[in-house]
Amino acid sequence: MRLILLGAPASGKGTQAAVLSGQFGVPQISTGDMLRAATKAGTPLGKQAAALMNEGKLVPDAVVIGLVEERISLPDAEKGFILDGFPRTVPQADALSGLLAAGGAPLDKVVQIDVSRELLMERATLRRTDIRTGHIYHLKYSPPPLDAVLEHRADDQPETVEKRLDQYDAMTAALLPHYEELGLLRRVDGVGSPREITGRILAALDH
Ligand code: AMP
Repeated sequence: MRLILLGAPASGKGTQAAVLSGQFGVPQISTGDMLRAATKAGTPLGKQAAALMNEGKLVPDAVVIGLVEERISLPDAEKGFILDGFPRTVPQADALSGLLAAGGAPLDKVVQIDVSRELLMERATLRRTDIRTGHIYHLKYSPPPLDAVLEHRADDQPETVEKRLDQYDAMTAALLPHYEELGLLRRVDGVGSPREITGRILAALDH
């Protein structure tokens, strides 16, 4: 299963990618998680990325393409992967096609998780991560336990979320017609419980 999950920030890509990764036994590859790990580790790449991420800007294509190229060449990605947050631009999509064609392993599907902008704002600004477990909570819909050690992502502040959503509309939305033309795109309503949305994605993968 070689799958891309497309969707705006806070559309539920990460949550669904983790579930699908478990179900299909293939790794979840999240460029956002990889960049946050580099930032925490204080690597030069992490420092460069943090400044852009905190402003709600995209990290340069060459950087994320390099990360994905390295990651999908690891043995655990041989049987497939769930890409979450990549590609985000047309050059990234082109680079991915090139990498997959070179390995003779084409994409199976591209699933877009659809959520209204109003709900995305609410989800992102009330999203919290438990820094010990990585579990993602929502202060209203999925409240954390009392002993959780919570972090509010710097790029989930309201002004930054606005910028990230604009960025998604401007650049990433151009990927939709690209994958539509290839007959790979499936759209799924992203409003509902995580379990409901997983069900919709699995149904969409059958068509
Ligand atoms: P995410 O966790 O997917 O929402 O990504 C968080 C941030 O990481 C984004 O707002 C970007 O600054 C950066 N980022 C993650 N993936 C990419 C990508 N494919 N291309 C460019 N920037 C990215």
